[in-house]
Amino acid sequence: MFCQSCGREIAEPATVCPNCGAPVRGIAPPGTSSWKPVEHASGAWYLLPLFFGIIGGTIAWAVNRDKDPGRARNLLIFGVLWTVIPTVLIALAVFFYYAPAPRAPVP
Ligand SMILES: [Zn+2]
Repeated sequence: MFCQSCGREIAEPATVCPNCGAPVRGIAPPGTSSWKPVEHASGAWYLLPLFFGIIGGTIAWAVNRDKDPGRARNLLIFGVLWTVIPTVLIALAVFFYYAPAPRAPVP
C-alpha cells in the first residue's frame, strides 16, 4: 500500500509511514484521518514578545495561530506576561515608595 500523505510505498504491517511519519490510513485510530504534517513555529518568534511585549506577542500569535496554535498561544501568553509582570512590579514599587510610612507604635 501507499502512504496517503507522501505517496511512498509502505510495508503492510506499518502503522505509521517510515518516510513522513503520517499514520497509515485504515490502521490508524479514528480521529487521526485529518492528520497533517506538524509544522512547529520557530522558537525565534519569542524574540517578538521579548522586545515588543504584548504587541509583539499578538503579532506572533496572529502569524502562527493557524500553523501552530499551541506555540501561538504560548507566544501570546509570553507577550502578555512579559508586559504585565514588569508593569505590576513597577506599580508596586511606586505604591510602596509613595505609601505613608507606618506610624511608630505609641508606648
Ligand atoms: Zn508518508
